[in-house]
Amino acid sequence: MPTHDQRRTKIIATLGPATESKEMLVRLIQAGVAIFRLNMAHATHEWTRTVIRRIRAASQEVGQEVAIMMDIKGPEIRTGDVAAPIELQPGEVFDFTVKPGATRTQAEEVRSVDVNYRDLVKDISVGDTVLVDNGLIRLEVLEKNDTRIRCRVLTPGQLASRRHINLPGVKVNLPAFTEKDRADALLGLEEGIDYIAQSFVREVADIELVRNFLRVRHASVRIIAKIEDQSAIENLDEIVQASDALMIARGDLGIECPFEELPIIQRQAVRSCLAHGRPVIIATHILESMIEQPMPTRAEVTDAANAVFEQADCVMLSGETTVGRHPLECVKTLDTISRRIEQVMAEDFAEPMFFTEERMKLFRSAIVMANEMPGSALVAFTRQGSTAFGLAALRPARAPILAFTNSRETLRQLHLARAVEPIFLQFHAEPDQTIGSAINHLQASGRIAPGARLIVVSDIISHDRRVPSIQLRILPS
Ligand code: PEP
Repeated sequence: MPTHDQRRTKIIATLGPATESKEMLVRLIQAGVAIFRLNMAHATHEWTRTVIRRIRAASQEVGQEVAIMMDIKGPEIRTGDVAAPIELQPGEVFDFTVKPGATRTQAEEVRSVDVNYRDLVKDISVGDTVLVDNGLIRLEVLEKNDTRIRCRVLTPGQLASRRHINLPGVKVNLPAFTEKDRADALLGLEEGIDYIAQSFVREVADIELVRNFLRVRHASVRIIAKIEDQSAIENLDEIVQASDALMIARGDLGIECPFEELPIIQRQAVRSCLAHGRPVIIATHILESMIEQPMPTRAEVTDAANAVFEQADCVMLSGETTVGRHPLECVKTLDTISRRIEQVMAEDFAEPMFFTEERMKLFRSAIVMANEMPGSALVAFTRQGSTAFGLAALRPARAPILAFTNSRETLRQLHLARAVEPIFLQFHAEPDQTIGSAINHLQASGRIAPGARLIVVSDIISHDRRVPSIQLRILPS
């Protein structure tokens, strides 16, 4: 079994002008992208529809299914339009107005910009920090009334139209799942997306809104909770358990929290996901310099390697593949780093965490067998994906997880899970026959050699009942 052929860490690429062409999609799939992300903060419905169809066509051309993640924007506060960019000066007093056109009580010299969120004045307090444009501009709240917030500029900068505002530590009462999110999600369901990434999840109730939205539409799309602010960190374990996967959205997280906390939060979030058996994605700035340069910085190589060492399921590219000059090289760079680090990890493998769920204990036994048999492979049969996700969560040291499924949707969703290689197969009524077909498929495709040792996790029929089982199948040499 050529286990070294497998890259266990999955690569997600966000699509944009640099990567939206069919030709580029084909090359990215060939280079090993498992999931494409559509960032709805920047996408029109027309673009989204076209690109989803194009991804499916490209995937068919390559003969490799991929998953599609729709990243919905969630609650977001933005500044309004300005006629020309405003150069904010250090120490300048500046207003954020929540009622456009509100008359001023004095002939004030104070410059201002509108904000798209009326209740901002209720949520914010004097002394709070307002960060604009990804934290580049920093202001402190001096005073407020019901039409505006008056601030002092601490870190100056140029304020252009429609800039993103972050309010570290402020509990904002914006709806978690907005009208725009709903419209985007409906389009996604129509076009057959596999994942919804929910931005700015603050508590479990936020995820429940999306869960219900999907439930009433009988959609089996999985939910990725993006953690991006301090509330999410406070509710981390509950959020992990309520979601299907987690994204550590380091862009906003690095603005909302002190930057020195970021590596600690990342580690804590990955551990929580591993402990609860949820896939985890490490996102943003992973190869940021490659937006311009053809080579990563040494620090980026180490950051990407760290994600693999932490055993993340996926690493995600954003600007690198939306507007970057070297999208393909970015994917190849992550591929190279992941493979190398995974090799070292397999040599230096430590037993992972403990599980409470009975089924996970059964899976754990399969993992122990696989770890003790170098060169073996885990073979799983899964309709909705839970067996394969469960095995992946236990992080086998070297064995690939060859996950057979009779559902195309499950097949695509399984691309998110570490070390899982999803394979489509029609299932028979009799599990033994299904196992036989799977082994035939693996042999015919050259995926396993004579003498291969397979640890098969499947149901067997015993006295007319389905019983979960682990079997060791050694193929004749
Ligand atoms: C992030 O903030 O890191 C992130 C992935 O979210 P977005 O790109 O949607 O702001």
